[in-house]
Amino acid sequence: MQITILIIEDEDAIREMLVMVLEQSGLKTFAVANAEDALQFLADNVPPDLLILDWMLPGISGIKLTQRLKKDEFYQQLPIILLTARGEEEDKIKGLNCGADDYMTKPFSPKELIARIKAVIRRNGYQGKETIISAGKINLDQEQHRLSIDNQNLDVSPTEFRLMQFFMTHQDKVYSRTQLLDYVWGRNSYVEERTVDVHIRRLRKILSQHKCDTLIQTVRGFGYRFSLMG
Ligand code: CA
Repeated sequence: MQITILIIEDEDAIREMLVMVLEQSGLKTFAVANAEDALQFLADNVPPDLLILDWMLPGISGIKLTQRLKKDEFYQQLPIILLTARGEEEDKIKGLNCGADDYMTKPFSPKELIARIKAVIRRNGYQGKETIISAGKINLDQEQHRLSIDNQNLDVSPTEFRLMQFFMTHQDKVYSRTQLLDYVWGRNSYVEERTVDVHIRRLRKILSQHKCDTLIQTVRGFGYRFSLMG
């Protein structure tokens, strides 16, 4: 699966340069010009793997946005690289103290930025980069969008695939229906909670043909968990 990066930069030339450089390195990019649009993007989409965030933005500043996201349980883990034209040591400390994962001073070399992105993502234990994720007998090919058990392809919808992908990369943790809706469907999806149940039921039915349906466990009063342990 491709690493996706959201770029937040108000200067057109720099934003376009970033998009070009990152895309050339095989990263998938989305770009917006301010923090408000970034929040909207995050609300509407499956979260990216990393944010490249300019410090000096009109409206909500990069620092403010970082603080806000790092306080939000949903986005806490989302790595942020802060960009700034200011090079003083004091600023750097301020940048990292606000919760940013790394900090770069403009002008920077594209090569260094790519290296930093990869380092930050590695440090965060990014799992999505592996093409095939396995859990017990189940294999999920993130590139070819295929789910299989014992080399037999399972007939799942794109949503069910994403749900399995989420479960397999977040094993042994309980997620509420709301959380699953946020992560799998996107935050502004306006889908009812019982939609989750419908898809889980269908997934279990498919998995039951291979005796794997018990991997998706109902945790009463909380939600669902995917676990190889009973
Ligand atoms: Ca700026």
